[in-house]
Amino acid sequence: MIGAIIGDIIGSPYEHRNHKSTDFALFSDRSRFTDDTVLTVAVADVILHGKDYAETLVEYFSGYPNAGYGGTFIEQAMTGKLRPYNSWGNGSAMRVGPVGFAFDTAEAVLAEAKRSAEVTHNHPEGIKGAQATALAVFMARQGETKAFIKNQIVKRFGYDLSQPLETIRKTYRFDVSCQGSVPQALKAFLEATDYEDAVRKGRVYRRRQRHHRLYHWRGRPCLFRTDPSAHRRSGSRTS
Ligand SMILES: [Mg+2]
Repeated sequence: MIGAIIGDIIGSPYEHRNHKSTDFALFSDRSRFTDDTVLTVAVADVILHGKDYAETLVEYFSGYPNAGYGGTFIEQAMTGKLRPYNSWGNGSAMRVGPVGFAFDTAEAVLAEAKRSAEVTHNHPEGIKGAQATALAVFMARQGETKAFIKNQIVKRFGYDLSQPLETIRKTYRFDVSCQGSVPQALKAFLEATDYEDAVRKGRVYRRRQRHHRLYHWRGRPCLFRTDPSAHRRSGSRTS
């Protein structure tokens, strides 16, 4: 979990910039934690204290409304109640890490990953992205080899993990979907030699320019990002 949070902070300055090199400063005065960290902690809180996912995600949003959430999540959270919005965005995978640490069987991890995803990301790809990420964390924690983890992910979820990162990097464009980012993130893990290498490799994907919109939450002006092209492509909701 600490690794996920540090990765979020390291990646934060590069969210709006094209960056395909693995040679970059890990921390700068623009480094900060984002929605990834806030909602990861929220998921851990749910598991540790038997809380309700929908209520707890809103509670954490209220505490940190300016952390960079997706537009649809903000719209929902501002009403005080989350309803599933059929998202296939990678928000479900981004927050699921604690699930891989908290349970002792693959079945329990998969079931809880689904529960954590479907309060917002009830699209099959949104659930799948969360399950694949949580299961990879679980298997790594069990000391399984990378070859075993890769085989299991391919077999259970049908993700294509055959392309080397070097090949993916040539054509990859920023993609907020689970199916367009979870396999690539897993690839960074599989090819990495250590934690820092994984973070550096995971940061080399080009991100498309996002649009910003302003909203107010309890009198505070906050920004959120949208990626209209992603919405257009599938007609479904993201984030
Ligand atoms: Mg973020």
